[in-house]
Amino acid sequence: MLSKFNYLRPKSLDEAIHYMEANPGTKLFAGGTDLMILMRRNMISVEHLLDIKDIPETQRFEFVEGLGFFIGASVTINEISENEIIAKKYNAIKQAADSLASYQLRNRATLVGNICNASPGADMASPLMVYDAIVKIAGPNGEREVGFEQFYIGFKKLDLEPGEIVLGIVLPDHDPEDSSVFLKQARVKGHDLGIAGVSVRYTKDKKVYVAMTAVAPTPVRLRALEAMLETKPFTSETAEWLGEEIKNHIKPISDIRSSAEYRLHVSGVLASRGMNQLIEMGGN
Ligand SMILES: Cc1cc2nc3c(=O)[nH]c(=O)nc-3n(C[C@H](O)[C@H](O)[C@H](O)COP(=O)(O)OP(=O)(O)OC[C@H]3O[C@@H](n4cnc5c(N)ncnc54)[C@H](O)[C@@H]3O)c2cc1C
Repeated sequence: MLSKFNYLRPKSLDEAIHYMEANPGTKLFAGGTDLMILMRRNMISVEHLLDIKDIPETQRFEFVEGLGFFIGASVTINEISENEIIAKKYNAIKQAADSLASYQLRNRATLVGNICNASPGADMASPLMVYDAIVKIAGPNGEREVGFEQFYIGFKKLDLEPGEIVLGIVLPDHDPEDSSVFLKQARVKGHDLGIAGVSVRYTKDKKVYVAMTAVAPTPVRLRALEAMLETKPFTSETAEWLGEEIKNHIKPISDIRSSAEYRLHVSGVLASRGMNQLIEMGGN
């Protein structure tokens, strides 16, 4: 059963920030698909719940040529999944959105809620990393930006101060010839976080980006591996090499979803498959 709490749905960012200042510990609520479960199971106690969905800044969902795509904190996973520009320019984001939970859940769940839950297995995290996404944050001292990779500072820890709110994510614009894929292995399709997830991006100037979820205390960009790939051709032989080498760059644990050994194995399979898919798509 849910305990009693105060609910506020402010119409402006100022109102939200003042409410959080006056009521320390206020919990932010977007789709509620993570939060309501914790509240219903009494795993967290919430005195003040602030619904962000009427704050205009969080509703922005807009692509600006040369600058990039702003995805506000109220934008749902289905809105992302159904957007043509995302599908064309940010394929890994589209694929991760399509893989998250079920259609019904995606109608409520948001991308920002997914990353602010701070799970190492959040599906949207690895595609955001390979696109060098930027997190836009507002708080009592004004607005600030942080690189998405730096947003994760430890297990379940984010670079987010009490009283701050994530307004949205910026996906920088990039060359139309860049391509990317997202692959995930899960126990049950539609009802579970991944055992492992990988995003691979290949750019026009032949740089490979690799990021993974559920194989470390936070989502990780595998920069040392990317540096090694700089000296290799973008071929199926390199994809096979990648499938083995990636195991030296991650430290998965055993938990309820998988053993560490299986996670290592499946990470190699996904990374190699991802690179091969990009090769089949034309290498760019
Ligand atoms: C059946 C089921 C299946 C699921 N399957 C998947 C899956 O396949 N893959 C996956 O990755 N996840 C999965 N999830 C988890 C969840 O649905 C996602 O993480 C979802 O994207 C969370 O978004 P939300 O808007 O519902 O977040 P909420 O529950 O509203 O919030 C999540 C957290 O983020 C904080 N928050 C929300 N908005 C902001 C903001 N603007 N600024 C700062 N903090 C904020 C909240 O306070 C809370 O701590 C599943 C959940 C369920 C119940």
